[in-house]
Amino acid sequence: MANKRAIVLGAGMAGILAAIKLKETDGVDVVVYEKSDRVGGTWRENTYPGLTCDTPSHHYTYSFARNPTWSRYLPPGPEIQRYFEGITERFGLYHLTHFNEEAVSALYEDGKWHLEFASGRTDAGEILIAATGVLHHPNIPKIEGAESFNGALFHSSRWDHSIELKDKRIGVIGSGSTGVQIISALAGNVAHLEHYQRTAQWIMPVDNTPYTKEQIESFHDPKVLEEAMDFEGYSAAVNAYTEALLDSDSEMAQQMAGACLMNLEESINDPELKERLRPNHKAMCKRLIFSPDYYQAIQRPNTALVTNGIKRIVPEGIETEDGEVHKLDIIVYATGFKADRFVRPMTVKGRGGRDLNELWADYPKAYLALSVPDFPNFFMLNGPNGPVGNFSLVEIAENQWKWVEQLLAPVVAGDASEVCCTQEAMETYEASREAAAKTTVWATGGCNSWYLNSAGIPASWPWNYKEFERRMASPVWSDLDVR
Ligand code: NAP
Repeated sequence: MANKRAIVLGAGMAGILAAIKLKETDGVDVVVYEKSDRVGGTWRENTYPGLTCDTPSHHYTYSFARNPTWSRYLPPGPEIQRYFEGITERFGLYHLTHFNEEAVSALYEDGKWHLEFASGRTDAGEILIAATGVLHHPNIPKIEGAESFNGALFHSSRWDHSIELKDKRIGVIGSGSTGVQIISALAGNVAHLEHYQRTAQWIMPVDNTPYTKEQIESFHDPKVLEEAMDFEGYSAAVNAYTEALLDSDSEMAQQMAGACLMNLEESINDPELKERLRPNHKAMCKRLIFSPDYYQAIQRPNTALVTNGIKRIVPEGIETEDGEVHKLDIIVYATGFKADRFVRPMTVKGRGGRDLNELWADYPKAYLALSVPDFPNFFMLNGPNGPVGNFSLVEIAENQWKWVEQLLAPVVAGDASEVCCTQEAMETYEASREAAAKTTVWATGGCNSWYLNSAGIPASWPWNYKEFERRMASPVWSDLDVR
């Protein structure tokens, strides 16, 4: 029997995982297409000062390829990028990967996905894995006068490293994880720094002291490393975290909010500044920010929190609603991403020409975040409405792969040629997901965030993490259309 051909789109964390797993599967030939010139996804694209992942570093690795050499508890972006480049090399993926190839369409015909790329290249295979990322399309705010600005203006994920920052006056718009990390990194290192905050955030303190040389050496022993990972209490934290998300009145939610409030109370000296930094929505309604030093950074000389609304951008800088013109050389949009794109703008058409764009006309949906009816052997990793929160997307993708792998098994073995969820399964699943999502703190906490879809429903996994692991481990075959 001829091998099945699997096409993976994207060479970020999830695409690399899929490629490794498919390469190890007998009966499959795998090829990866990456629109950029390097692997790494988010970690290739984001290079802003202070770039850090808020998931503990040892958990932000594949379970089969731990990395003893992380320098600290929360991994700095460049180290993560090096990790993924190293993994790509180690697992022999470079020769399977085509760079600078952006897929523009994928059409399912005659038992295969037919891909077309912007370069004119074509390819076809029975299996298609979309590992195209989530936070990937910058959200550029429409601010009057932006084009008139005399200085440099760019989005956080498009950092202009040609500009020397030391002698500059810099304004950072946005107080999500990105804005907070940038402020922490730049405070004290530039002439003047302003943080434009529209909504105050809940900020959890975290100890991010570098690991000692001895600790790093000890992590080379897998047993010590596993023990350290347990000791760091990550699993317990994930369970507590999800419990708090699901019930914002729970003890766990109160504890987390209390820890953030204590951080605010103890860290900020000026009572007026303290009030401006005090959130007016429930903790965890937005993604919780973990920061060891933001509150210290915002109190440094030459650093200011601006809470007057932005009226417009003028040639000299930013004019706020109170009429003040803030003179700036650089404006950074730390304004987040359009989180509802997924595989789009690419055209994806399944059986009978069913168009993903039409199916997602309201907002993106997928059975268990992974499969769409009439899109056979097409799976998304970190797809619509999957688990989001301050936990490891690497672990999430590995769990998702366990599910995908089980579905692909009969296809690879030649016992079936097509598998995806049924229409009914997706509808039933989505109805129960939405009902549950509406009761989570993302919906009830009194805030706006990228977790909400265009209908205001949280676009995320609304059950606890254990339930996610359970469902990934055991596919319900009666929900699946196997031909
Ligand atoms: P974000 O969480 O979506 O935050 C965007 C910020 O921009 C918000 O403060 C928002 O204000 C503000 N904003 C948007 N439009 C604005 C406008 N027109 N005027 C003024 N302010 C505006 O984006 P992000 O910080 O880039 O983070 C996105 C996600 O990336 C995170 O939630 C996380 O999943 C991931 N990330 C993770 C890490 C990590 O450590 N793991 C680091 C960076 C990013 P409002 O709150 O008022 O809407």
